[in-house]
Amino acid sequence: MTSAPKIGVLALQGDVREHIRALEASGAEATAVRRQEELNAVSALVIPGGESTTMWKLATAFELLEPLRLRIKEGMPAYGSCAGMIMLADRIEGGIDGQQTLGGIDMVVRRNAFGRQVDSFEADLDFASRGPMRAVFIRAPWVESVGPDVEVLGRTEPGDRIVAVRQGPLLATSFHPELTGDARVHSYFVEMVREF
Ligand code: GLN
Repeated sequence: MTSAPKIGVLALQGDVREHIRALEASGAEATAVRRQEELNAVSALVIPGGESTTMWKLATAFELLEPLRLRIKEGMPAYGSCAGMIMLADRIEGGIDGQQTLGGIDMVVRRNAFGRQVDSFEADLDFASRGPMRAVFIRAPWVESVGPDVEVLGRTEPGDRIVAVRQGPLLATSFHPELTGDARVHSYFVEMVREF
């Protein structure tokens, strides 16, 4: 694909505008997605941070839960940051009663995992061997365990917690690269989208 891929940002809740900006800086055409017609019109999707319980409830209310699951099952590339990572997890810990995800990545994600020590923090980490990157964590989850097909792309130092993963066309980070003005994670995702 040589033209700019059309990538949606799920706009039920969360920091949509920052993701749109980072995607545009990475050479994609970016647009907000709230309805099924808008989902049908994009070739990939970013699921932003926010609150996974709210996002799940809104996706249900907007009748987007099943269409999203279907697109993911069909192989649509997707990138989830923070709450978005929770949404892409096949299994979660620390969810509220009945909380559902979209799934797609064979992993267990623990909600609010860093929360008990400190709500929000910044740390430098190596993302996908692309050198040190400033990562912002806000009531962030971590990845408790991954299946055999999941590639670990980043861990905290110290602590060695898994905070960035990829499985085929699906990418997830515990942190918020859209907040630092560093578009390397979004560029990585746009490259992935071009490959699929
Ligand atoms: N703690 C939130 C949740 O469970 C995620 C926080 C975030 O996205 N910044 O959904």
